[in-house]
Amino acid sequence: MDCIFCKIINNEIPSYTIYEDEIVKVFLDVNPNCNGHTLIIPKKHYLDLDDIDQATLNHIMKIAKKIKKVLEEKLNCDGITLIQNNGCIQEVKHYHLHLKPHYNNSQKLENVQDVYKKIKGASLN
Ligand code: AMP
Ligand code: ZN
Repeated sequence: MDCIFCKIINNEIPSYTIYEDEIVKVFLDVNPNCNGHTLIIPKKHYLDLDDIDQATLNHIMKIAKKIKKVLEEKLNCDGITLIQNNGCIQEVKHYHLHLKPHYNNSQKLENVQDVYKKIKGASLN
């Protein structure tokens, strides 16, 4: 299957990975509109919210809570939006949850590599 996120999971395409376990991979979005724009994806290919199973979804939300804390601590963001697109608005057809930080003060958009340096190695408590 020609899926860009499956290729990221298989390390055929590089990614700025923050965390992974047997069920999910978490990495920075390569085309962010805010510093720390992060994606959580299941390692198994699911299309969207209809397709994904409840246990995997529960695990994704458990990890989202932990990643939210990492972004708050490492990037000092003031708010975080979770978004998951389906249907015509979904560009990549492999389920993914976006975490998008917000900042009270306007921020210069940094390159992803610099943001990654601030986050990588963070422990998920
Ligand atoms: P969506 O519109 O919800 O399907 O969003 C897809 C997201 O995947 C966009 O924010 C893209 O910037 C992001 N994206 C696409 N290719 C990559 C990639 N190779 N690594 C990281 N993020 C990607
Ligand atoms: Zn896939």
